[in-house]
Amino acid sequence: MSRVKHLLGISGGKDSAALAIYMSKNCPELDIEYYTCDTGKELKETYDLIDRLNSVLGKEIVIYKSMDDANSPMKNPFDHFLAIYGGYLPSPMARWCTNKMKLEPFEEHVGDAPTISYVGIRGDENREGYVSKKENIQTIFPFRKNIWSEDVIKKALSNSNLEVISSFYKELSPEVILKNVMQYAEQPISPKFTQRQKLNALIDADVKLFNKVIFEFLKTTDYPVGKLDYFHLVDSEDVIVLDDVFKILEDSGVGVPAYYKPIEYEVEIDGEIKRGTYSRSRSGCFFCFYQQKIEWVWLLEQHPDLFEKAIEYEKEGYTWMAERLEELKKPERVKAIKKEHYLRINREKSKSRTGQSWQDEILQAEGEGCASCFI
Ligand code: SF4
Repeated sequence: MSRVKHLLGISGGKDSAALAIYMSKNCPELDIEYYTCDTGKELKETYDLIDRLNSVLGKEIVIYKSMDDANSPMKNPFDHFLAIYGGYLPSPMARWCTNKMKLEPFEEHVGDAPTISYVGIRGDENREGYVSKKENIQTIFPFRKNIWSEDVIKKALSNSNLEVISSFYKELSPEVILKNVMQYAEQPISPKFTQRQKLNALIDADVKLFNKVIFEFLKTTDYPVGKLDYFHLVDSEDVIVLDDVFKILEDSGVGVPAYYKPIEYEVEIDGEIKRGTYSRSRSGCFFCFYQQKIEWVWLLEQHPDLFEKAIEYEKEGYTWMAERLEELKKPERVKAIKKEHYLRINREKSKSRTGQSWQDEILQAEGEGCASCFI
């Protein structure tokens, strides 16, 4: 029996929800614990999504607590930590919110047990998810062609492990591709053949073989995956992109979180009424500072009560972004933001041969932000 823990964090966003469904269907042999770290400030749509996931997974999603409710005068984690930070609002440069409410509870829960953490970075994304600095936690990305984290790749492909990796290739490779893969496996990393080039060459030659070699290599290390007898994802060639995520959610009955659905707005431009659409591009706290201006307008018009609550946090010189929300909610600012959004989207639509879709907008907005909150 393996002692390895398998954890999958549900952020309330589409990708982690789809990953939970994907893993429960494709890797039923793994005893995965699904968890979420509640900030107390999510949109109702996020809580609804987690409820629906609970019934589809047939397993309770565990809540990792970041505070001791009994010993805090505050009713929820965000307000509890905000009081500790003296009202200092988090920002991209000082993201105490993620550390305190997501990463620390996760690492505390894991303790010292060897743990595999599954993260839903998609195959069409170019970012690395959160990888813990704790050596007993290994991150796996099942939606990507390269399921391994950067630290594993760096170690396995380093020149000091060249002979070990080459010997696994010789042992495991089918005869028909042996010559081809060995030219890459035996070639040291150098300015002319970078780690990235080597990785791509080996993966393109045969991704399953690459995964088998890495799996064997991990058995010679302390990485948690190396402690498993069998790891289903080694044999997977799936690459899951945005369309697949929406399909997984729809097919399962969980559905796409309601805030992604585009809603029509009107704006007058040069005396003419134009119709555009807006939505929210990500999960997370309703006041998240990663929001674009048009998403703040969406919040103002779709959830005016929450917008007012976000304003209440802006005091003593602390604001969510450079522009105060009291300024942003003025009708002339709302009109200007919609106009800028409408014109930008239409410029991008006319540049694209297929026309910009609401899913393209999500892809663009995803570039910036926090992998723990928005996946
Ligand atoms: S959603 Fe935004 S505000 Fe909330 S914890 Fe994440 S980064 Fe911080």
